Amino acid sequence: MSVLSNLTSALASGTVKVVDLTAPLSSETPLLELPPEFGQTAQFQFEEISKYDDRGPAWYWNNFRTGEHTGTHFDAPIHWVTGQDKDDISEVPVAAFVAPAVVIDVTSEVEADPNFVIEKSHLDAFQEEHGAFPEGGWLLCRTGWSSRTTQEEMINNTETGPTSPGMSSECAQWVAEESVLQGIGVETIGTDAGAAHSFEPPFPCHSFFLGANKYGLAQLQNLDQLPATGAVVVASPLKIVEGSGSPVRVLALVEN
Ligand code: MN
Repeated sequence: MSVLSNLTSALASGTVKVVDLTAPLSSETPLLELPPEFGQTAQFQFEEISKYDDRGPAWYWNNFRTGEHTGTHFDAPIHWVTGQDKDDISEVPVAAFVAPAVVIDVTSEVEADPNFVIEKSHLDAFQEEHGAFPEGGWLLCRTGWSSRTTQEEMINNTETGPTSPGMSSECAQWVAEESVLQGIGVETIGTDAGAAHSFEPPFPCHSFFLGANKYGLAQLQNLDQLPATGAVVVASPLKIVEGSGSPVRVLALVEN
């Protein structure tokens, strides 16, 4: 049997299952908050065109408005000033949308410290235990943060500002410049830690990954349903010409 007919058989029999890693997209979806002097990303909003009524008797449909970076979304390299000459979301090679994934679990560390950041030493320990990272793969960072579904819980403002987990600058630079990974995926509203405005450089995941023509996936859910290694992620953003990113339905194929 061919590889693809093996896959379709495995999907039909349930030997391979499909896990939805996507947060619901609605006007309630939490989103990034920047200091008031900066432009702000939009909430998802419906504008109803018709609903089986005078405006369209047999059909229901909507227009919608949303930020490119609202909800579960894909960061293209052009999103950051360091990647300004690199791919926009319509130019990202499609091979990146189907990629192996490994999952590092730091939920207990984040429970103890919501400002917890993943360091290079954590990645070394992961590879020691599970083997080398897959070429062109995603590193999915399981923090437990997706259990926070409201704006307030997701941003988690404290006296020091937004308080949520992420990755250290040194580690982000290593992922961008040394590793075989194509990017990271996170449960928080962006790839960087809540306090990353104070890191050097500020927002190191954005700065280093996108500058290296790598990617980010934000606001993922259900990472607890994935194995540490062996999942395949399908994350196919809208082909928005000149877009800096896009909402995305992220799926994982997992062997039972
Ligand atoms: Mn983003």
